Amino acid sequence: METKTDELFAYIERNIARTLVDCTTCGKCFDICPMTGYSDKLAGKNGGDVVAGILGILRGTAGTPEAVEWTRLCTQSARCIPACPENVNPMLMLRLSRITALGSTGGEALLPDGKRDPHFFRRINAFSALQLSDAEIAEWHR
Ligand code: SF4
Repeated sequence: METKTDELFAYIERNIARTLVDCTTCGKCFDICPMTGYSDKLAGKNGGDVVAGILGILRGTAGTPEAVEWTRLCTQSARCIPACPENVNPMLMLRLSRITALGSTGGEALLPDGKRDPHFFRRINAFSALQLSDAEIAEWHR
């Protein structure tokens, strides 16, 4: 029998797969992000390169230090959502990157507050990092 945790991870996997197909790494979401100016690691970086690192994290690699930094910095301003010409939700992309970087999908933790007890925190990390909107919850339950 499929549990809520199974459904959650299916949702995560489905959206990661969709993002990996649709994102062209144009970098427009990074360029409009109001948070990048608050990090010396991100100043002057090419948005396409940083997003390519995000896609790397989503593929289960270590990504890049800049991608991990942008993942850490995201405050969900949502400025990136209308900026995407490919109908990707970059804010969700960053949340998926955060979930992955926390080690919540089973890979190596890339963020400092990553997994401590993977058996206990895996589901909690995933749920808390997702912070689903009502529309996304409706999609998850479809
Ligand atoms: S704006 Fe959209 S297509 Fe461009 S890098 Fe960001 S998520 Fe990918």
